[in-house]
Amino acid sequence: MEQIVIIGAGQAGFTLASTLRKEGYEGAIHLIGDENALPYQRPPLSKKYLLGEMNADRLTFRDQDFFDEENITLHLGEQVTKIDRAAKQVELSSGKKLAYDKLALTTGSSARPLPASLCEGVEAERLHVIRSLADIDRLQPQFTKGAHLLVIGGGYIGLEAAAVARQSGLEVSLVEMQERLLARVTSPATSDYFAKLHRSHDVSLHLGSGLKGLEQRDGAVVALLENGSEIAADLVIVGIGGMANITLAQDAGLEVEAGICVNKAAQSSDADIYATGDCAFFPYRGAMIRLESVQNAIDQSIVAAQSMLGQEVAYDPSVWFWSDQYDIKLQIAGLSHADDQMVVRAGKTEASRSHWYYRDGKLVCVEAISDPRSYMMGKRWLEAGLSPAMDQIGDAELDLKAIKP
Ligand SMILES: Cc1cc2nc3c(=O)[nH]c(=O)nc-3n(C[C@H](O)[C@H](O)[C@H](O)COP(=O)(O)OP(=O)(O)OC[C@H]3O[C@@H](n4cnc5c(N)ncnc54)[C@H](O)[C@@H]3O)c2cc1C
Repeated sequence: MEQIVIIGAGQAGFTLASTLRKEGYEGAIHLIGDENALPYQRPPLSKKYLLGEMNADRLTFRDQDFFDEENITLHLGEQVTKIDRAAKQVELSSGKKLAYDKLALTTGSSARPLPASLCEGVEAERLHVIRSLADIDRLQPQFTKGAHLLVIGGGYIGLEAAAVARQSGLEVSLVEMQERLLARVTSPATSDYFAKLHRSHDVSLHLGSGLKGLEQRDGAVVALLENGSEIAADLVIVGIGGMANITLAQDAGLEVEAGICVNKAAQSSDADIYATGDCAFFPYRGAMIRLESVQNAIDQSIVAAQSMLGQEVAYDPSVWFWSDQYDIKLQIAGLSHADDQMVVRAGKTEASRSHWYYRDGKLVCVEAISDPRSYMMGKRWLEAGLSPAMDQIGDAELDLKAIKP
């Protein structure tokens, strides 16, 4: 094998390229990214970077020297426009063509835009998403003390943006069509905790309120809600979820659903083409899932690199995620369902606690709110397939170390 091409220079693409070298691959590696930036981490975009507590150069994984030393050829500001599977080559927006022996799609996901019918007539520069460095550069000049921000969507990115906005002195209203925050991803108890947290920071929450549309009126953007109320704002952040970037794979005739379908070795329906990270749709405990998390992008890309080099590997995700809002850190290990049984464990301070989820008596997920000990123990038990007794978990007087599942 002489040449590996990777499309998408984000977390997954960077990890795949560097793992190939760590595993001893000596052929050519081409890493192609359509952003004009060295590969960088996205989580701080809605946290410390937006808050101005982190510089852009701290976002990048490695500097140019690393790529030179590892002999990884970067093609930045270049979009792959076509995969020609018969000729085993990709075409770039510059007109360049690159042949591959193995190809990886690490194209990530995009922020779901607000349907055009809901924002006709609103100046485009008032509407924002948070996905890339360029998005933050565009947002920053309007992100000023005293401005009124409207956040549409009560998921992680919307909530993190709301928290940073309050810390930066903006007035914040948040609209969520579901009856609770984080409804898709967490339990009512965790939702309630974060609703209280944001209200205590004077975020005006509008839950269970669908957005009928946005209008531009007297220099402001006015949100009209299904319940008849109106909210005037200077700028809007739309945080209504992400969509896997699958068009390239679809056009190339690869099997796609909610993402690019891959097997446990991250191989697509074409054995020479892999997909990892946000864009991949992969098997997990009898179902197919897609995850938007750093850990998934890293671990799945390591498996893909090893598989490309002929190793027999299977991706078994240890799912974990975190979110920072104000001075609260939420850490989640595992995946919960709405119908799981939940046990609350009080933490050492009033603000801290953990929520433990059980399915058929088996521990499946731990959500720890400013409680790193519970997170660590829970993650360890989940990885070992162990389930501590529910009554012991619920007893905050009992030290976690004393529990022997
Ligand atoms: C604001 C924000 C906060 C987040 N916070 C957290 C967090 O706290 N914890 C956590 O675990 N995860 C978090 N995530 C999710 C995490 O960042 C992603 O899961 C991770 O970046 C996925 O990596 P990826 O490489 O699959 O995709 P990406 O990082 O999106 O990289 C994909 C790259 O491919 C490029 N690309 C796409 N198509 C083409 C093409 N045709 N040609 C060339 N290039 C292309 C894209 O422009 C992009 O640069 C957050 C994400 C965002 C946006």
